[in-house]
Amino acid sequence: MNLTDCVLCPRECHVDRTAGQTGYCGQNDKIVAARAALHMWEEPCISGVNGSGAVFFAGCNMRCVFCQNYDIAHSNAPCKTISVSRLAEIFLELQEKGAHNINLVTPTHYILQIIDALHLAKANGLTLPIVYNTSGYEKVETLKLLDGLIDIYLPDLKYYSSDISKRYSNAPDYFPVATAAIAEMFRQVGTPVYESSGFIADANSEFDISESSLMKKGVIVRHLLLPDCTEDSRYILRYLHETYGNNIYISIMNQYTPLPQVASIPALNRKITDNEYDGIIDYAISLGIENAFVQEGETASESFIPAFNCEGL
Ligand code: SF4
Repeated sequence: MNLTDCVLCPRECHVDRTAGQTGYCGQNDKIVAARAALHMWEEPCISGVNGSGAVFFAGCNMRCVFCQNYDIAHSNAPCKTISVSRLAEIFLELQEKGAHNINLVTPTHYILQIIDALHLAKANGLTLPIVYNTSGYEKVETLKLLDGLIDIYLPDLKYYSSDISKRYSNAPDYFPVATAAIAEMFRQVGTPVYESSGFIADANSEFDISESSLMKKGVIVRHLLLPDCTEDSRYILRYLHETYGNNIYISIMNQYTPLPQVASIPALNRKITDNEYDGIIDYAISLGIENAFVQEGETASESFIPAFNCEGL
């Protein structure tokens, strides 16, 4: 696989990124990123006490209309072009700063460069677990290139309905594509493995997070509730539980924030209600889902969206 006729992801644009062409992700063959810093807003077993070493890449092959990182997905934020060797250095610098892992955020369209950077960083002392933090819109064939390099997969499973995935992400095949990708991710890393850290469990949670410590290996599937999409959310939870039982974690997220770009889309222009979220949590409990991360209280806030200011690049 190469960038001269790019088919890395399901968009299969067939552009020559080495000649400066760009496809759906909006990126040529240069690595462009917006931030590399310790990040506290991931799941507790990823953020731990020190933070996750998050590298936010620019561009995206999904480009959801409601994107919570809209500015970097659409390359509006200040971004910096970095070389493979600089990316490897950044990984090592994050390790020096105490990061619990290296967290590759929206990495799909940079897979080939990331593989080179990981090999280089590992040869120079990188020992942290590597987290692959993705929309889930991935090709199995491409993911196989990562076999043995990634420790923790953190994919979204955004939609079941092809109507909704077409409307919001121009990806009517999202569900079959993303579920095949998650199956490959699970094949590579298997059931969760933890190591002890300073993380303290929430003793009041209905869910079993008694192994509360840093994840070293495993799959956490994220599902962000969208306004008026609770039926879709139910199908997704049922699918995940029937397919994987408690061999994966599910992160059920309520922080959807309507950003300015959805002002003209009434269906998306509000936050999730407590009733919508509580109903989904009750449904997860009724299914027997034990390995879940849930969010308590008023978490729908833009504070989850970090400053994209080229820090750490
Ligand atoms: S990585 Fe980008 S250019 Fe390549 S197929 Fe996907 S969207 Fe198209």
